Amino acid sequence: MSPARPPTRDAVVPLTLEGPRPKLPRGKPPRHLADLDLAGRRAAVADLGEPSFRAVQLSKHFFGRYTEHPDDMTDLPRTSRAALAGALLPALLTAERELSCDDGTTRKTLWRAFDGALVESVLMRYPDRVTMCVSSQAGCGMACPFCATGQAGLTRNLSTAEIVRQVVAGARVLADGQIPGGPGRVSNVVFMGMGEPLANYANVVNAVRRLTEPVPDGMGISQRSVTVSTVGLVPAIGKLAAEGLSVTLAVSLHAPDDELRDTLVPVNRRWQVAEVLDAAWDYAAVTGRRVSIEYALIKDINDQAWRADLLGSLLAGRLAHVNLIPLNPTPGSKWTASRPAAQREFVRRLESHGVPVTVRDTRGREIDGACGQLAASSRPSAPPPASVRPSASPPAPGRLS
Ligand code: SAH
Repeated sequence: MSPARPPTRDAVVPLTLEGPRPKLPRGKPPRHLADLDLAGRRAAVADLGEPSFRAVQLSKHFFGRYTEHPDDMTDLPRTSRAALAGALLPALLTAERELSCDDGTTRKTLWRAFDGALVESVLMRYPDRVTMCVSSQAGCGMACPFCATGQAGLTRNLSTAEIVRQVVAGARVLADGQIPGGPGRVSNVVFMGMGEPLANYANVVNAVRRLTEPVPDGMGISQRSVTVSTVGLVPAIGKLAAEGLSVTLAVSLHAPDDELRDTLVPVNRRWQVAEVLDAAWDYAAVTGRRVSIEYALIKDINDQAWRADLLGSLLAGRLAHVNLIPLNPTPGSKWTASRPAAQREFVRRLESHGVPVTVRDTRGREIDGACGQLAASSRPSAPPPASVRPSASPPAPGRLS
């Protein structure tokens, strides 16, 4: 991938919600049709006294037309619309803030959930694809010291529908032609927003199914275009391999040696480099999918030539490629991205071991949309403090923004 082109700044609003983290109301997000498979939706519709084929109609509206609004559902009897939409398409996420850059082709959305939890998603349009980067948890419990989300701790898991809803919202703005480049579709989904996807296993796998099943069951995105990124929760990687899905696994390695990885990715104290990589190779063997090894290059911490050689020797001959990420420093961080010469040498050494390498685009940096920065400068709060400006045009209730 190419290095970032000089970004252009559009509507950039600082995200700073001050104050202590308030207690969120307890309880689960409301049930939504995306939480259920089609059989479950039919049963839910029948419980309302409606013919079960209404489940297909509602599903087509949500997954095919990206709408939740009863007025759009002209194929449903007017008398049933509100009850059906109210029961199966409750408002889950409200767009609180939209930030865009790269001439509008990168757009980050800050979402507020029913309980005030804040999560973010990022849409990135490239000439050949549109990638949605989604959150799987509000916050994260993995405590990686270089990651902004990791500093704040875990608030809660997102429901299946809360995850899917982020992608449907992106699909909606693309279909509407709101992203420069004309009407388009979401082609790729990466679980690289807030959270550790494999720590919210059931809801993430369910979300992958919803995203990839054809309409009306789901959105019809190709499984091969979905990437699940993990710190390396070994048992969950094994479980994912057995799901029969063809999704790409990304492993956030960041160091080839346990001594350093214990500090950069603290869960390494539980599952060490060799065990994580073994799980990755098993995943590759079962699925036939090349594993992506994520490596944030941090100046003078993990970018030494010997570490490149060690990494190269661990990966040589494996079904893997390395995705180098120039570190995106978190506010107040003592760490910075590697020098260009160190980065070039790191790439060269990996390549000399025959390991394919890409350097990740750093899209969205100036809107805190680059990896690890999502919602870090925001805090869950209800109601929002006066310092928060409302979106320019708040979405109509029940409508996807
Ligand atoms: N918890 C998952 C997915 C979320 S983070 C995981 O760790 O894989 C997505 C990727 O961004 C991970 O590879 C993560 O290590 C990386 N990342 C986090 N903070 C970063 C930062 N400040 N600079 C560069 N990459 C970062």
